[in-house]
Amino acid sequence: MAAPLRLISRLAVVTGGGSGIGRAVCQRFAAEGASVVVADVSEGSANQTLESLPREHRGQEHMAVGVDVSSRESVERMVTTIQRQYFQPPSVCVTAAGITQDEFLLKMEEDDFDRVIQVNLKGTFLLTQAVSKALVASGSSKGSIITVGSIVGKVGNIGQVNYTASKAGVEGLTRTAAKELSRFGIRCNCVLPGFINTPMTHKVPEKVISKITSIIPLGRMGEPAEVADVCAFLASDDSRYITGISVEVTGGLFIG
Ligand code: NAP
Repeated sequence: MAAPLRLISRLAVVTGGGSGIGRAVCQRFAAEGASVVVADVSEGSANQTLESLPREHRGQEHMAVGVDVSSRESVERMVTTIQRQYFQPPSVCVTAAGITQDEFLLKMEEDDFDRVIQVNLKGTFLLTQAVSKALVASGSSKGSIITVGSIVGKVGNIGQVNYTASKAGVEGLTRTAAKELSRFGIRCNCVLPGFINTPMTHKVPEKVISKITSIIPLGRMGEPAEVADVCAFLASDDSRYITGISVEVTGGLFIG
């Protein structure tokens, strides 16, 4: 089925765009007509995503950029580069860059806690702030910021005290940003994936995956494209009266 064309003439930046969910979001946005900036710490993977993007619509121009979302300097440099290239800030931003560094609470090193918070939570803060500042300064009338939390930020997960804390933080940040930025026409929403088939979950032992799959009501892990579908809805005007929400994309996992 052909994707609808809800993002024609929109400029979107997607962090973590070199892999998994971020890559699927780039592909979906481009299929819906957006110009896409693929941003990732790995420029090689960002370029691979770039090569996969359709350019079927007039004025559609994509680019890849290297960014470390945990560094203010790097994030600000990226936003400046985008504005130089397109003469406008991105009006859609998806913060899909994320990492795990799992360990039990009793054994976790402080550095592993800090690094996950820096990339997942501080990275989301830096992106949200830099993009919304640029949108407000440009006088733009609307924007859509989509953050990526996780269902485990709500329910906890053994071995992920750092990751679950970061993702719970992302949800709170998103709600506050929604309240503060609505007067500028900027909507902020969070997607909460469950267990999605990406390089991040390929690290999880098979035994754990089959145990989780057995308790997912829809009976399988999700695909990155299924999260991207929800991001495209949140980016588009189809969600114009929605801000500050979290959408669970979990196949029903942990619905209670
Ligand atoms: P993924 O395939 O590992 O993709 C994450 C991407 O982010 C990778 O390309 C990674 O680059 C990049 N990245 C890491 N650190 C970065 C940094 N400092 N700056 C910029 N980019 C950075 O993972 P995914 O499964 O697609 O996850 C995407 C998002 O969804 C993450 O926020 C994750 O927490 C969230 N999520 C995933 C699942 C799931 O089941 N997969 C569930 C819930 C939430 P490198 O590969 O070079 O490190």
